[in-house]
Amino acid sequence: MRTTTNLPAAAIAAITLLSHLAHSCRLTGSQVYLRDMDNIINNTISKRWSHMEPGDGTKNTGDPFYIPFGQLWPGNTLIWCFSDESEWGGAQQANLIRQDIVAAWKLWIAAGVDEQTIIFREGNPAECSPSNQNVLDVIKGSLFSTVGHFTDGNVISLSDSPTSALGDRIANFAHEIGHAWGMLHEHQRNNLWSYKYAGGKGFTDKWKFNCENVDGYDAWTHGLTDDEISLICTSYTEAKKGYIGSSGQSSNQLHLEEWLPLPKSFWQVSGGPSDYDEDSVMLYPSNLGGEADPDNNWQKKIVYTKADGTLITANTAPSVYDAEGLSDMYPKAEPDDTPCLLTDPCNPQEAAFRAAQGSGSCSS
Ligand SMILES: [Zn+2]
Repeated sequence: MRTTTNLPAAAIAAITLLSHLAHSCRLTGSQVYLRDMDNIINNTISKRWSHMEPGDGTKNTGDPFYIPFGQLWPGNTLIWCFSDESEWGGAQQANLIRQDIVAAWKLWIAAGVDEQTIIFREGNPAECSPSNQNVLDVIKGSLFSTVGHFTDGNVISLSDSPTSALGDRIANFAHEIGHAWGMLHEHQRNNLWSYKYAGGKGFTDKWKFNCENVDGYDAWTHGLTDDEISLICTSYTEAKKGYIGSSGQSSNQLHLEEWLPLPKSFWQVSGGPSDYDEDSVMLYPSNLGGEADPDNNWQKKIVYTKADGTLITANTAPSVYDAEGLSDMYPKAEPDDTPCLLTDPCNPQEAAFRAAQGSGSCSS
């Protein structure tokens, strides 16, 4: 799951990740129905997504409860750079990764992101200078990304595995690219979890969370009391801060915070009381992060399901709502409709007007 890198601890805290899971298939059908329902309820086109509320772009606050969100990428432009091509095994292998990053972004465009308004491109050598901390550094590792733009460095860690996480390398890249822009996990929206979970704001749980099936659960909860385990299995904050139980055992390697409802304020739009985007590439499938089960041919255990027990399958491309969420964060600049008077520099006739004024001439 989470990689060990030379990133500072607070930077690690700023990241979010995918884990490993089995093959995926794409859900279809429900979206149109739900959209229609919401039109009736709200008399408006519905959207479902969650993305960050832009933060101050600082990773180091010293507050263990702090959840760092970056700022918006300036100019609606995200420039990415290979930190070190050699870590991929050379230029040829790096080129394959480069192609898949481009392909992953094309999936966002295909879902509806306007590529003229929102720019995602590789930097040129000058932009990719090691001293430039305003770009997104591509490194090799497990899957995670900083969320939003930080002025003191940004990183997206990608795995070259073709089968990990969503079961599709380009889909994994698309998920992490979503985080890099500021998108959050669909399943962590707090209105999809009941009050039984810290920060939950829903009336009922949309999910059944099988905390004990998360990879590493037995090892990292060994010696904890039932109450302590209950705490880390229901609270994002307790899970994230590296809760240490009465035994002195820290649970912070479990990364349960990747599933639990986000306590921080963030922007979200929900089409109604019941719905989330089943097609979102920002949604974890049921077995992601599950422990390999020796009693079931080493298949990954089911970490969470829909409340009725239905499995959640992996999506391999951003959905229409994902694209709407990203576009909501980075809207097209409003056209400037301020009148351009003859005395304004914006007016192409301004120079001639000034000249005429200066000459004192006027025609009758
Ligand atoms: Zn993620």
